[in-house]
This record gives sequence, C-alpha cells and structure tokens, in this order.
Amino acid sequence: DGGGNVKVVVRVRAFLQRELDRRTRCLIEMDPVTQLTTLRSPESDDGDGGAKLMARRVIEDRSFTFDNSFWSHDVADDHYAHQEDVYNCLGEEFLDHNFEGYHTCIFAYGQTGSGKSYTMMGTPEQPGLIPRTCEDLFERIEAAHKEDSNVAYNVRVSYFEVYNEHVRDLLMPAVPSAPPHYLKIRESPTEGPYVKDLTEVPVRNIGEIMRYMKLGDSSRTVASTKMNDTSSRSHAVFTIMLRQMHHDMETDETTERSSRIRLVDLAGSERAKSTEATGARLREGSNINKSLTTLGRVIAALADPKQLRAGKRKDVVPYRDSILTWLLKDSLGGNSKTAMIACIAPSDYDETLSTLRYADQAKRIRTRAVVNQDQIS
Ligand code: ADP
Ligand code: MG
Repeated sequence: DGGGNVKVVVRVRAFLQRELDRRTRCLIEMDPVTQLTTLRSPESDDGDGGAKLMARRVIEDRSFTFDNSFWSHDVADDHYAHQEDVYNCLGEEFLDHNFEGYHTCIFAYGQTGSGKSYTMMGTPEQPGLIPRTCEDLFERIEAAHKEDSNVAYNVRVSYFEVYNEHVRDLLMPAVPSAPPHYLKIRESPTEGPYVKDLTEVPVRNIGEIMRYMKLGDSSRTVASTKMNDTSSRSHAVFTIMLRQMHHDMETDETTERSSRIRLVDLAGSERAKSTEATGARLREGSNINKSLTTLGRVIAALADPKQLRAGKRKDVVPYRDSILTWLLKDSLGGNSKTAMIACIAPSDYDETLSTLRYADQAKRIRTRAVVNQDQIS
C-alpha cells in the first residue's frame, strides 16, 4: 500500500554572522525525544518594548510536531543534525522507495536564507540531499550488478527551474546573445504534466551525474535582494529517472520498474514587501509568489478533510493556476511518496510561524503512490 501522508520535517539553521553581530536570540526549541518544535515569542522577556508590541497583536509561544525535527543550530550540541543525519533520516528511506518502484518527491520550503539550498544541494565540503542521493544511487546500482547479472539499470537526469512563471532548462545553458528560451508544459494522460523538449541526459556513474548537477546549478537564475544577495528567486527541480530491468531466468520473464526522484528547492517564501523589492524585482516577486501562493492553496485544498473524503470534488484543487503546482501535481496529490522539509531561521518569529503553519497543514495531505512496474516480455 503506497497510500500515506506527506512526511514533514523541520530544520533550523545556525546563526549567520549578521545575526551574531546583532546578538540575536534563538527563538526555536526542539525536543529530541518528543520531536516537539517550539517557537518562542520574541517579546517574552523583553520588558517594556515587548509590552508595546504585545498590545498591537498577539504574539505567543507556538508548538508543532513533525515527523522529524533537525536541530542544526548549534554544532556543539549532542543533537546537532549534520547533512549526513538529514540524508540518513530521510534521503535513504526515499531512495529505498525508488528502488521498490515508487515515485518520490522531496521539497524544501522556507524563507530566503533559511537553509533550503544548503539542505538540498549543500556545499562541496558539506554535500546536501541531492549529491548524497546521487552517490548512494550509483553505489546501490554497482552493488546490485555484482550480486546479480540479470539486472540492468538505466538512469537519466533533468534539471529545470521555474522563474517568473517560465520554465528554463538548466542543462541547456542560455546563449548570451539570444533571447531566453522558455519551455512549454504539456499534459499526458498517462504521465501527467511534463515539460516539453526538456533535456534528459543518460548518466552512467556518479562523476557524470555530479557534472550535470553542477552545470545546472550554475545556470540557475539568481538576482540580489536586500534580504540575501545570493539568494535564488527561482524554484529548481532536479529529477532523476531510474529504470530497473530484471530478467527472471526460471520463468524467462522480464519486468521493468520505473521511478522518478524529484528534488525541489523552492524560491523564498517571504512576502515581496519584506525584501523592499521594487520595479522588476517586485514583478518577479509577485510572479514567484503566484507559484507559492498557489502552492499554498493547493496544499490547503488537499489538506481539507472534505477533499480527503470525496474524490468527486477533485477539480477544486487549483493545480493549473501556476506553473509550479501544475508540474508538481502528481507529487502533491497523486502517485508519489512525498516529503516536505520546512527550513527555518532561528530568530524570525513571523516568517517562521508562517512556515510552521504551512508545514503543519502539509502533514494532512495523503498521496496515493503505486509501484510502477510492467512485465515487458
Ligand atoms: P536558502 O536557500 O533558503 O535561501 P541557504 O541554503 O542559501 O538559504 O542558507 C543561507 C545561509 O545559511 C548560507 O550561507 C548557508 O551556508 C547557511 N546555512 C544554512 N543552513 C545551514 C546549516 N544547517 N548549517 C550551517 N550553515 C547553514
Ligand atoms: Mg537558496
């Protein structure tokens, strides 16, 4: 049975230099036993200034429980969650599902600077979920080849971004003098929505896949905003297609399993106003928000108990209102095992509360994953 809820985990990052300089207080607590994540009110021991703020609106401690909470705030802590821990708790399990023949999707959600790209891609010294998944994938394939000569594997990869409600192929670097090339979305009755003419390259080993990963990463659209100069304003979707062919010598039958591994680094969830964006950046912001606001509406519709009961009301889910949700339709409400990583900064009450609420709602979504297996001879 592939039916199950979206797995939701939360990860809090360390202070950045600018937060240390301001002597910011950490508002997050995580209980390693109960997995309870608590967001403390920033005013709770602030004296008078706090009282003034309290009069304006209600700010209080809020607690949430998720499938996992990753404490990556303080490296000296016994419970510090390293990149490896995040992979071992989530990435490995999802790769198991892929080898069983399930489609999976892991997406990182959170405001700019909360650690989405660090968690998904990481750095050369501290690789994140994407490079670790690639490495483990090829290790498992090599091990399987050694054990059984009647299996064959085929791995292909694609990488695109949704920027300003346009799809760009990240494995097809832009020609500087040419106008930007945008791809169209199509919907197939069997495969669902897909990007037409997207580059899909076969990869045979870890070296090849890492090369494409880096190539795509370097062609991501980045634009500076006041909040984070190097932050990416795009949604990046890295996809690995795994095909496993197995020949049974006794029955002389060949079966094929196909699964898709989708790893998504979303654009910052903060509202455009908080970055004081203007002009072109603001227009981008509102379009980026269009995909994110729609994602919010899709999650709300899928998490609605009425929706969960009645299949007949399925067209109230507004997948097609944005490019991102249209393309992620299957991952959000269909044939996929899906996880959300809610990334939070340690000292931003409003944005963190909004991220935790979003994540809390996502916990209620159920998908219907099936093993994608065919007998081909
Ligand atoms: P986002 O992609 O959400 O905008 P980043 O992943 O770029 O955020 O993270 C912002 C900054 O915080 C980067 O400098 C990154 O290296 C650092 N960072 C994020 N998460 C962690 C972590 N768990 N441990 C150490 N540094 C982190
Ligand atoms: Mg980023």
